[in-house]
This record gives sequence, C-alpha cells and structure tokens, in this order.
Amino acid sequence: MIDELEIQITKVERSKLNEIDFNHLPFGKYFTDHMLEADYEDGEWKSVEIKPYQPLLLEPSLAALHYGQAIFEGIKAYKNNAGEAYIFRPQDNFKRFNISADRMEMPPVPEEIFIEGMRKLIELDKNWIPHKYDYSLYIRPIMFATDTTIGVKPSDTYKFLILLSPTGPYYANPMKIYVEEIYTRAAPGGVGFAKNAGNYGGSLKAAAVAKSRGYDQVLWTDAFEHKWLQEVGTMNVFFVFGNKAITPSLEEGTILAGVTRDSVMTILEEMGVKVEERRISIEELIEAYKSGKLTELFGTGTAATISPIKELCYKDFTMKFETENWKIAPTVKKRLTDIRDGVAEDKFGWMIKV
Ligand SMILES: *Cc1c(COP(=O)(O)O)cnc(C)c1O
Repeated sequence: MIDELEIQITKVERSKLNEIDFNHLPFGKYFTDHMLEADYEDGEWKSVEIKPYQPLLLEPSLAALHYGQAIFEGIKAYKNNAGEAYIFRPQDNFKRFNISADRMEMPPVPEEIFIEGMRKLIELDKNWIPHKYDYSLYIRPIMFATDTTIGVKPSDTYKFLILLSPTGPYYANPMKIYVEEIYTRAAPGGVGFAKNAGNYGGSLKAAAVAKSRGYDQVLWTDAFEHKWLQEVGTMNVFFVFGNKAITPSLEEGTILAGVTRDSVMTILEEMGVKVEERRISIEELIEAYKSGKLTELFGTGTAATISPIKELCYKDFTMKFETENWKIAPTVKKRLTDIRDGVAEDKFGWMIKV
C-alpha cells in the first residue's frame, strides 16, 4: 500500500518567511510555511500531504482529547556553511516514536512517511533553517487518536503531523534543582519510557511547586522509595565524578532514552571519560558531594542540549557548584554543537542529509 503512496504537495501562495525576525526566535513560537499531514484509517496510512501550515478542524469528541492517546518527537535540522541541510539522528527518533506508539496501543508510522516525509517537508521549507551557530530548525512529529466517540478503547483512526519551527540558541542558564519526593514521573510498568503527551501534563504540577520555592525544575526520584534518581524535568541527567560520568540506566522503563543522552555518552567516551549506566541514589550523590568527588552535573535534551545544574537541594541540604569552572559539560556541549553545525567532522554518522 505504502509504496504506491504519493506525498501530495500543495505550496503556499506567499511565504511568511519575511515576517519573522530571525534574530529573535523564542523556542517553539513560529512555524514554517508548510506542514505534513497523514491519516490512518481502515488499518492503513492514507492521504499523506504536505500543505500550508493551517488550523485543524476537529470534533469535540476527539478521542485524544479525552483519553490521551497522543505521542510526539523532537528533532533538529541544521544548515552547514555550504548551505546544505542536515537532520541530527532522525532514525533514532523514528525508532523511538514507534516504541512510544506501541506502548500507547497506536499503529506504527512507516519510515516512508516519518523520514521521507520529513525530508520532503524540510526541503520545501529549507530557507527557514537559520544559518547561525547553535541555531536550528526544530522538527515536531506528533500522532494522536482521532476517533469521534467517547468510549474508552484504542482509536481506529489517527492523525500524524510534522511541524517545523525555526529556533535560536537555548541559553541554558545554570539551573537550581530540587529533589522531588512527593510527585512521581514514572514507575516500572508505566509509560515513562514513551514520549507521550500525558507525561508532560503530569509533570507540570511538580515543576510549578518547585518554581514557587525558587527552583527551576525537579530531579525526579523513583516511585517507591524516592531515592533513586531518574531525570531532571524533561531532560536526562549526568553526574560527573572526576573522570567518570554516571547516568541512570534505562532498564526499569522509567527513563526516556534520550538521543542527546546517547550522543553525550559517545562524546564522553571519546574524551576518555568512563560512562556508567546504572542506578544511583541521592545518598550516593550527597556522599560524593561531601567528599568532593561530585564535580559536575547536568541535564541533556534536544531543546537545550546541555543544561548545567548549579544548585541541588535535597530536604534541607543544598549542594552548590561553580559551573564557570567546569571542564566536561562545556566541552561536550561545544563538541556536539560543532558536529551539528557542520563545523566539526561527523565521525559517528549522525548528520543525515535532507
Ligand atoms: C524528550 C525527552 C528527553 C530528551 O530526549 P532527547 O532525545 O535527547 O531530546 C528526556 N526526558 C524526557 C522525559 C523527554 O521527554
């Protein structure tokens, strides 16, 4: 079926490109001229279309709105000095998207639509990719249930969209973080490893409480003992102990397998820093802080790349760090940004030409 599937393209009559101030690009605010839209019906993907970015007409009974069958991805595209467009590791996001789909009892999206559709869309809106250090085109694939009946069941129909949003550098000010002991992001057997919309909705309360106490975000802990460290807000987390870096392991299914996490592990190894994926408790972290072993800690994700943590509070104990003197986090950030901007050689084959 999919081989015969043509992507129908309808172009805008007039581009909005000149209306955007490319020196001021808040994250996720502006969208390009076009979007991709595909619909799933009768057990197959039909009508894949690239068309002008526009509102959707949806019924109030839309299943996704009531029961949360909705997943998404976050990817970035860059332009190198020769003006060629590249996408950073889209295959990894494609695989993860379908892992999320499976967990949420949704159909997989074929590569022809996810990857090839994305390429065609970016090709069309190529002029929207900023060409400036650390600027990029943020890519947002999303799929949600579109049945229009309010019975609880997996939807029979779905919509898949890809949106593009030009974005500036995310000035990751060092963060003040609070170790969460009341709210839980994910438990074994749950949906923590899936990039589903509800995980974000469910995390906002904890983040709001942390903000009201003067913190930027929370460091999530496990659901049972509130002592095993998971993620920082919506980012994976790394703890540097001198020439070793520890990041929580993925085994329990409570952590999102970040593409940035994986890239950072590769770059750390390349730098000669040993990486350990394992369980790590707040007690171990405090011990390491007290003995001076804990030298750096940071969050990783596509939007901000690397966000240093300058303050970490557990109960009434606060750990403080002089992020200006750090060596590892800034080196990893620069290395990754250089590869993505096409300034450094892409020796891991991460950059996929549009
Ligand atoms: C998306 C996400 C991340 C980061 O994943 P990347 O692929 O690096 O962008 C980390 N944690 C959560 C909960 C996420 O949703």
